[in-house]
Amino acid sequence: MGIKKLDKIWVDGSLVPWDQATDHLLAHSMHYGLGAYEGLRAYQRADGRTAVFRLREHIERLLDSCTVCTIECPYSQEQLMTACLDVVRVNKIPACYIRPLIYLGYGALGLGSLEPPVRTMVACYEWGAYLGEDGLKNGVRCMISSIMRANSNAAMNKGKICGQYVSSVLAKRMAVKGGFDEAIMMDPQGYVAEGTGQNIFVAKHGVVRTPPSSSAILAGITRDTTIQLLREHGLEIREESIARDELYIADEVFLTGTAAEITPVREIDHRRVGRGEPGPLTRRIQESFFSVVKGTDKKHDHWLTYL
Ligand code: PMP
Repeated sequence: MGIKKLDKIWVDGSLVPWDQATDHLLAHSMHYGLGAYEGLRAYQRADGRTAVFRLREHIERLLDSCTVCTIECPYSQEQLMTACLDVVRVNKIPACYIRPLIYLGYGALGLGSLEPPVRTMVACYEWGAYLGEDGLKNGVRCMISSIMRANSNAAMNKGKICGQYVSSVLAKRMAVKGGFDEAIMMDPQGYVAEGTGQNIFVAKHGVVRTPPSSSAILAGITRDTTIQLLREHGLEIREESIARDELYIADEVFLTGTAAEITPVREIDHRRVGRGEPGPLTRRIQESFFSVVKGTDKKHDHWLTYL
């Protein structure tokens, strides 16, 4: 899905015209991948108002990612939150994806050079269902990737760090080239970790399980939202290790993420999950989620920041 050009992008404190939001080809992060980013969504709710979902938590994670990758962000959490809201407002878009990025710019290319300036940008653009409308409705087909999540001495999975996404991009490209919608990655211990940009949930006999946040996964904000919603529905949710073959014999499997929202999985490695269609529990939690972000739910207004 190509990016449709909008009016402005927030760059280092100012809103600049879309085409002027550029950098030098010798920017440090372009070569070595040290940088931190986030992905958020602004939704138009049933009453017509636009709200950013869990803005504070996303910006907190962005600053945590900066800490993990030793970048000192020149902006505060409040300033970055305001930048996200401003960029949506100025582009007059009722619903969009928001992409903040903090990276090392042009100055020097030594690996350890402290000279390159820290640059900050926030863009927004239209982005529909990440795994397709059909995937959201009928479920997606996944494969288990031979590319693993690394252990935390090789990759720091708690941060959304640019260069670390090479393994996700490769796993995803190989899955797509192989005719699948998404790849599921295993952790260094051989247990299920997550999708390339989503967390994973597995249901069997009414009990829902997801890998623990201490494992080699990103602690997803949609994952946290889902856990809270499952509890509100009175469902049992356990954070524990999941073996590969438990995916094959699950009643239901679904993926969660800002981009993917809550997407059912209907097939893994050519095995049908459950009846090969989204199960009742996935449907229920998907419905609650969409009611919170773009429906009429009022109970979770604290998760929304209105423009
Ligand atoms: N895992 C990875 C590797 C991701 O990149 C993402 C997307 N940010 C997620 C999980 C889901 O996280 P969130 O729900 O916060 O978007």
